[in-house]
Amino acid sequence: MEKTFHFDSPSEPYVADAVVLTCFDQRIRTVVNKFLQKRGILRPDMVVIAGGAKTLASPRNDFERDFILEQVRMSILLHKTTRAYIMCHSDCATYGGLAAFNGDREVEAKHHCQELERATGLLKDRFPDLQVECFFVNFEGIFAAKDGTKEQVA
Ligand SMILES: [Zn+2]
Repeated sequence: MEKTFHFDSPSEPYVADAVVLTCFDQRIRTVVNKFLQKRGILRPDMVVIAGGAKTLASPRNDFERDFILEQVRMSILLHKTTRAYIMCHSDCATYGGLAAFNGDREVEAKHHCQELERATGLLKDRFPDLQVECFFVNFEGIFAAKDGTKEQVA
């Protein structure tokens, strides 16, 4: 094997601060990373997949949902995770972008909050001891989704 890059990574086992389910959309990567750091989530188990919480709320098929549930189960089992952060974001292509909501940011945000609520229900159902927090990400910040509405947190 030929070494192609040198970097010293921490090798100790760890307890994950949270399992984080978020979309692979590159536009939200920086804000999500900064938000997690600000929240003290320094060792997250990142589940980065097209649609983020959509894979639980409105999966394309059972496989997609079951695969994500298994990732969460593995985080709990292997890294003693007690908390989940689940996220949806504005203009997510898996929902057809903002255009699917006729460009109405409020309608879009409300829809995503409902999606997050459904995803939370599924996770709490499967993992009753897991503490679940859900967030809607747009191009201005991150909002806590509670009772189908959003409130800015970052
Ligand atoms: Zn997306």
